[in-house]
Amino acid sequence: MPRSLRLLNADLHCHSCRSDGTLAPAQLVERAVAGGVELFALTDHDELSGVAEAREAARDHRLPFVAGVEVSVTWGGETIHVVGLKVDADDPALLAGLAATRAGRDGRGREMAAQLEAAGLQGAYEGAMAFAGNPALLSRTHFARWLVERGVCGNVRDVFERFLVAGKPGYVEHRWAAMDQAVGWIRAAGGIAVLAHPGRYRLGEAALGELIAHFRRAGGEGIEVVCGSHGKDQYARFARIARELGLRASRGSDFHSPAESRTALGALPPLPEGLDPVWAGWPEAEALAA
Ligand code: AMP
Ligand code: MN
Ligand code: MN
Ligand code: MN
Repeated sequence: MPRSLRLLNADLHCHSCRSDGTLAPAQLVERAVAGGVELFALTDHDELSGVAEAREAARDHRLPFVAGVEVSVTWGGETIHVVGLKVDADDPALLAGLAATRAGRDGRGREMAAQLEAAGLQGAYEGAMAFAGNPALLSRTHFARWLVERGVCGNVRDVFERFLVAGKPGYVEHRWAAMDQAVGWIRAAGGIAVLAHPGRYRLGEAALGELIAHFRRAGGEGIEVVCGSHGKDQYARFARIARELGLRASRGSDFHSPAESRTALGALPPLPEGLDPVWAGWPEAEALAA
C-alpha cells in the first residue's frame, strides 16, 4: 500500500549563511539528512545564491530537493513573509525583484545602528556586518547576534524582546516588496507561493482574513500549517483555515542555526489529516510515496 504523501518528512523552510542562517547550504543538507528529512527546500531571505550548492549537496546525498526563497513583503504596515517553492532559481525577473528587495537592507542597517548607538551601543553597524559579511544581506538577526556577543542580551530571542522591534531601540520601519509583486515573481518563475508562519503576525482575526484574501487574489496558493514558530493550537487553527479556504498546506522548521533554533531540521509533527500538501503532484515527492 502506498505511503501517504501527507506523512512525508518534508522540511520546506530554512536558512543558510547566504541570508541569516549560520550554516553553509551543504551543511544544512547534511543536517537535513541526519534529521530524517525526505524532501528539502532552502528558503533564504530574498536570496537564491545558496540554491546551487544545496542542490548539488542534495544530489550527492540523494535527498529530494526543490529551490526556494522567503520574500519579505510589506502589507498593511506589517512585515509578512511569502515563501516561494519550486522556483526557477535562474529566472531573471525573480532575481531582479529579489535584488531590489535586498537593496534596502544596508541603508536600514545603518539607521538601526544609529539608533543603537544613540542608546549607548557603539559599533553596531560594523558588529552586525561582521556576522552578515555582505551589506545586502544585513538583517536584524545579525544585529541580534552582535548584541548577544557583546553580552547585552543572553540570546537572540531575548534581543527581540528588548531591541529591534516596534517601540524598542534599533527598530526602523521599512518598505519591502508589495504582496502582488512577491507572489507575481514567484509564480512567473514557475513556483508556488506559500504564506509563511501566519501565526506570527500581530494581526487580529479580521486582518488575517484580509491578508489571506489579498494573498490569494495575488495568486498565492499555500500556507504554512506546521512550522517552527507554531504551537499545537496553531497547527489546528491553520489546518482548519487551509481546509476551509482550499489552501495547500506546507511544513518547515524555519531552521537558522544549531545554537539558536528550537526546531531542528525535520523535527516537526506531520501535517494534520485532511490537508492537501503543497508537495502533492511534485515528482520529487510522488516518487517517495509510490
Ligand atoms: P529582517 O528580515 O532583517 O527584518 O529580520 C527578520 C529575521 O529576524 C527573521 O527572519 C528571524 O530570523 C529573526 N527574528 C525576528 N523575530 C524574531 C524573534 N522573536 N526571535 C528570533 N528571531 C527573530
Ligand atoms: Mn530569518
Ligand atoms: Mn520568516
Ligand atoms: Mn524563515
